[in-house]
Amino acid sequence: MTTSSYPDTRLLIANEWQEASGGKTIPVVNPATGQQIGTVAHASVADLDRALAAAQQGFETWRAVPAFERAAIMRRAAQLLRERAGDIARLLTQEQGKPLVEAKGETLAGADIIDWFAAEGMRVYGRIVPSRNPAAQQLVLKEPVGPVAAFTPWNFPINQIVRKLGAALGTGCSFLCKAPEETPASPAALLQCFVDAGIPPGVVGLVFGDPAEISSYLIPHPVIRKVTFTGSTPVGKQLAALAGAHMKRVTMELGGHAPVIVAEDADVALAVKAAGGAKFRNAGQVCISPTRFLVHNAVKEEFTRAFVAHAERIKLGNGLEEGTTLGPLANARRLTAMAKVVEDAQAKGAKLAFGGARVGDAGNFFAPTILADVPLEASVFNDEPFGPVAAIRGFDSLDDAINEANRLPYGLAGYAFTRSIRNAHQLMNRVEVGMLWINQPATPSAELPFGGIKDSGYGTEGGPEAMEAYLNTKAVSMVGV
Ligand code: NAD
Repeated sequence: MTTSSYPDTRLLIANEWQEASGGKTIPVVNPATGQQIGTVAHASVADLDRALAAAQQGFETWRAVPAFERAAIMRRAAQLLRERAGDIARLLTQEQGKPLVEAKGETLAGADIIDWFAAEGMRVYGRIVPSRNPAAQQLVLKEPVGPVAAFTPWNFPINQIVRKLGAALGTGCSFLCKAPEETPASPAALLQCFVDAGIPPGVVGLVFGDPAEISSYLIPHPVIRKVTFTGSTPVGKQLAALAGAHMKRVTMELGGHAPVIVAEDADVALAVKAAGGAKFRNAGQVCISPTRFLVHNAVKEEFTRAFVAHAERIKLGNGLEEGTTLGPLANARRLTAMAKVVEDAQAKGAKLAFGGARVGDAGNFFAPTILADVPLEASVFNDEPFGPVAAIRGFDSLDDAINEANRLPYGLAGYAFTRSIRNAHQLMNRVEVGMLWINQPATPSAELPFGGIKDSGYGTEGGPEAMEAYLNTKAVSMVGV
């Protein structure tokens, strides 16, 4: 079955789904067919003002709800998300393209993330600090920072929201999200779960429209106290600068260019299975996608052959079709970008080992692609490809591989394969990333920090550190009279 019903999406303000005040809408296109499947409301400034007023009101209400009761509402929403995962996954696949099994996995993982943050919200503790004055009591209090403006991208329409939403709601903040215009229905279905779980009006809100117009209005707005963005590094830098000018707290989860170091003593089959699977997940449109495959020259041929065999088994197609393992790219501009990346690498001397071109002329299908012997000057070795393209290059010493891994300004995720503890230790201490997976695929979870360093951003979206980003610290010293 390759079609399914798909709703038009409206704005969520004070728990009511509303058309944009000017009636303006944006078309939503299925990337597997190129056909319009629905529309999404385009917020006006008047709509944003109403959403901001609701977020302020929602914050006053929610911060006064005990953490235990907040957690109960969040867990109820997570349970509704689980129950609705089959239907939500069909929306997500139609608007974003990823195979249904990945869409369902993302939705169910979203429910787990909400559960984790619900529980963590009950463990927001302050401190009692011994005072130099015996008559005084010194306290450190943690308070919610205030209404949050979140900007989330289209690659994981649910997952990119829940980490921000979980931390915001768990700490007692209200949450106004500008979700992606390309993939609006699954975020709307996610927030509907919170409305149905009984969240008070204004605690969650959802708007769509012109991303630059909305961010330039919300970030400086006095109601907003915290900004969180996931997307490209250039846009992240602009938004962080704007937030800085208005002294707003910021979390930035930006682009990456993950190195995969396959040492001479690696289990090559494991490296291909783990990194190969991760490379083509969500058609490579993943910030932690493995990208620069740095393979010891002694095992490079074996690795490349096995990687090509892995790519040959991939089934490219409409994500709603049974058996599809690679869907279309989420939007047409990614197709043009991929064609350019491959052309540039070949012009600079890389060998095309597999794929390399668009498939068919309807939908945004691009073949899984493997480039071998890629020179450092090729754009794929420098700029985030954000697509199903793997670039392989040999090395002779681990030092060279680590230097190459650290050459780029990005520092999000990294992967390494080695049987030697000595190598693993070197890699752990010297690779400049926020997340490193050794001898395994990425296993991001709510309890582990998720975030980057250098141009990949700052702040983290997992673990207790993720809660801290939504909390103010207040020191109180009190003498009883
Ligand atoms: P883009 O840079 O135009 O947009 C990236 C995201 O930021 C989109 O969701 C977009 O709606 C949003 N955005 C753009 N300008 C904005 C603004 N002024 N204010 C608020 N939001 C804004 O790129 P794109 O073509 O949509 O995506 C391709 C690139 O984006 C990739 O190369 C990748 O680097 C990056 N990206 C990263 C992630 C991630 O998970 N870190 C997710 C999606 C896209």
